[in-house]
This record gives sequence, C-alpha cells and structure tokens, in this order.
Amino acid sequence: MIASETRRQIAELSIAADKPLIICDVDEVVLHFLRGLEEHLAENGLWLDPASFSLNGNIKYANTDDPLPGHEIGALLEAFFEARVGSLDPIDGAAEALDRFNGDASVIMLTNMPHQHRAARIRNLNDHAMPYPVISNSGRKGPAVRELARGVKEPVMFLDDTPDNLHSVSETCPEVVTIHFIPDIRFSRHLPVIKDFSMRTDNWTDATTHIHSLIGE
Ligand SMILES: [Mg+2]
Repeated sequence: MIASETRRQIAELSIAADKPLIICDVDEVVLHFLRGLEEHLAENGLWLDPASFSLNGNIKYANTDDPLPGHEIGALLEAFFEARVGSLDPIDGAAEALDRFNGDASVIMLTNMPHQHRAARIRNLNDHAMPYPVISNSGRKGPAVRELARGVKEPVMFLDDTPDNLHSVSETCPEVVTIHFIPDIRFSRHLPVIKDFSMRTDNWTDATTHIHSLIGE
C-alpha cells in the first residue's frame, strides 16, 4: 500500500532503465537524525536512553527518568521535524560516496517522514551536496521500492538503518540488494546481524566498496 502522495512523487520521476539504482534512506544513513533529535530533546527536558532499538519507552524526562508516554511521541516527533528538519548534519562520507556513484547509477532518497516537511528536507540535503530526488513515504518501504525499481534492468540497492524497512523490501522485492547501514553503535549493539541482508555496516567507506562490487566501476 503506497500513500497517494508518495505515488504522485514517484510518478514524477523518470528513472533510467539501463543504470543501477541506489535507493537510500535519509535519517541515520545520510543525515544525523539522532544527533538532531537528542539536541531537541535536551531543549525540552528530555533525553534518549539507548536501552533498546526503539524510541518508544526510551525517551525519558531528564528530571525523573520516567519514559514519555507512547501516545506523546508522535507530537514530539512532529515538533522535532518542524524545528529541525532543515538543519540536520550530514553523516560522514555520504555526500562523497553518492556523488561518485551518481551518473553511472541513479540515486534516489526514500524517507519516512511527514510529507509537509519534504521541501525542507530537500533543502537540507542540497545544503550538504546531496541534490537527489526525495520521496516521502509512510509505513512499510517495500511497495515504494518496488515501484521505484520497476523497469530497472540493472542492480537495485536499498540502504536503511531500520530492520523493518529492510525486511519489507526483502519480502516485497527479493531481487533488491538490502544494505543495513547503521552508524550509531549505541543502538546497533541491540540488533543481531541479519543474514537476509547483503551487508551490515556503520560507515560509507565500506558501503562504497560493497556497492562497487555489485555494480562495477
Ligand atoms: Mg533511517
């Protein structure tokens, strides 16, 4: 199931059939979502306890260490996006790596976020030398990846930090190469290496080597 807004954005693209396609998550893959979120939390008397791979239950009040109730997380994230979506820092090496592949391959960003903040996200990525198409999505990513990959005759790669998104893509389009990119060891330590995925890495140097091995120079 693809949201109509996501479908509309995908329909606007023309994706080369004869080039590899790199579909890249944004938060924690090319931009520092957690760094920005933790700054936002600190300004609001909260902190993120990396006790498991989840926001739910781990956002806590600084003064009591009680968790923020689950039903308040949506509003908190909305306020975070409102305040900071245009000013997140880049992940080391992301822009350089994607620039090397761009041209020989197509590069598209697929990000789960409120659609109304898409323009600010595009500006933020442009500010950090990542001027690629951005598709805003909600929920599972497999259906959107299937739509993006339709007609592409060369390898398609998908990078994301969140196992659910990678599993969704593996299930929906098993021909797509899934790369588990997770730079923050405080959270990755809770996740086993998942054999279904083509690789797991915390950095763009290793991801670049792996992508080169898949698509050639
Ligand atoms: Mg992410």
